[in-house]
Amino acid sequence: MLLRHTPKEVKDRKALTINPAKTCQPIGAMYAALGIHGCLPHSHGSQGCCSYHRSTLTRHYKEPVMAGTSSFTEGASVFGGQSNLLQSFNNLFSIYDPDIVAVHTTCLSETIGDDVSQITQKAIDEGKIPAGKHVIYASTPSYVGSHVTGFSNMCASIAKYFPEKQDYELDQVNILPGWVEPSDMREIKRLMSEMHVPFVMFPDTSGVLDAPQTGFHQFYPKGGASVPDLKRSGASSFTFALGKFSSEAAGEELRKKCDVPYEVMEVPIGINATDRFLMKVSEVSGCPVPESINDERGRVVDIITDMQQYLHGKKVALFGDPDILIPLTEFLLAMDMKPVHIVSGTPGKYFMERMKEIMGDDFETGNVKNGPRADMFLLHQWIKNEPVDLIIGNTYGKYIARDENIPFVRMGFPILDRIGHSYFPVTGYAGAMRILDKMLGAIMDQMDREAPEEKFELVM
Ligand code: SF4
Repeated sequence: MLLRHTPKEVKDRKALTINPAKTCQPIGAMYAALGIHGCLPHSHGSQGCCSYHRSTLTRHYKEPVMAGTSSFTEGASVFGGQSNLLQSFNNLFSIYDPDIVAVHTTCLSETIGDDVSQITQKAIDEGKIPAGKHVIYASTPSYVGSHVTGFSNMCASIAKYFPEKQDYELDQVNILPGWVEPSDMREIKRLMSEMHVPFVMFPDTSGVLDAPQTGFHQFYPKGGASVPDLKRSGASSFTFALGKFSSEAAGEELRKKCDVPYEVMEVPIGINATDRFLMKVSEVSGCPVPESINDERGRVVDIITDMQQYLHGKKVALFGDPDILIPLTEFLLAMDMKPVHIVSGTPGKYFMERMKEIMGDDFETGNVKNGPRADMFLLHQWIKNEPVDLIIGNTYGKYIARDENIPFVRMGFPILDRIGHSYFPVTGYAGAMRILDKMLGAIMDQMDREAPEEKFELVM
């Protein structure tokens, strides 16, 4: 009963957020940077921030996450971190030999007001950036937004820096996958290959944060979008920006810089969002959706049909990132489930607007909130007032699930106490099957555990 003090009565809070359903901007910036081959993220701030960001990513991906830090001391906090960053460039390029250093700020360096682009220019002028190497930079103050904002800001910086405008068009599309797992990026790439659609994806953390064990440590694993690929993304015919919160800014930067048209689409989670994505890919590329993918879709529909009695009417509480929650809610509703409590710590008006569209009348009767004070404490209070049959969210939901004895499916970021998320997708039809498998497993395990002996069935 770890959260036994959570009161049932919901009171309006003006300032206090308790157990936020989000984490800080630089974590997202670091994750995005790791999706570029040969890139070393660098945290311009204190060592404490950097070690928190690295450890959260390491715990989620079970992979070593490398990053530099400007190692602020009291002196840097007062006089600014310019000399620390200049020294960092020297150290990073001479010791770790990255192709790219991706600098992001922290609360402290933002509050001091360090101008990272000016410092970077000074480093270039002083010859501290070796020829052929790159430094990109994203502003990621963590007192606004969330880890999703940080991811989006770093993706926008990548899109601003690398793509090159051409007066010809290549027969390829860009995919900005949004903040999804390496497994999801791999799955989206598989779908593109199955459809024979040439593409560039960035960031791409597959092969970086799900790298195979070879017995040798590779500081820069072989995955990640390459610099030549990033450069030629400026000549693509179209950009798919998946997830408004995590990819729209990068799509817009690419359009501004290279005139590549883009469309913001939802991350392909569940049947409807996957259908829309694949149909649009087919329309833009002229490549039809092959029978093999239709078959995958049919298998998802078959599972839903077979197991409808365990899904129909089940009340669900969800929390996490907006780009995941939006298509996930649509998927649950498509299966006649009832998402009744939904929180996301990431701010942005679009979340409520889109949820209203998706949920229709259920929006008025349900509890949906995002931004400040849309936290786990509130979610728990809502659950106390209207119990649910299932909770879906990151590892932090396990306390509520245990206290209230509710089946729990881990999905989102971070997942610190289970594996699988880096290896098995939740996107595409294969991902829909996995979500179904996890939800049905959790619900039916609980039924087995709690069934009276006369109703304990071998075949459910
Ligand atoms: S101080 Fe800011 S950037 Fe550093 S860990 Fe805390 S929230 Fe994140």
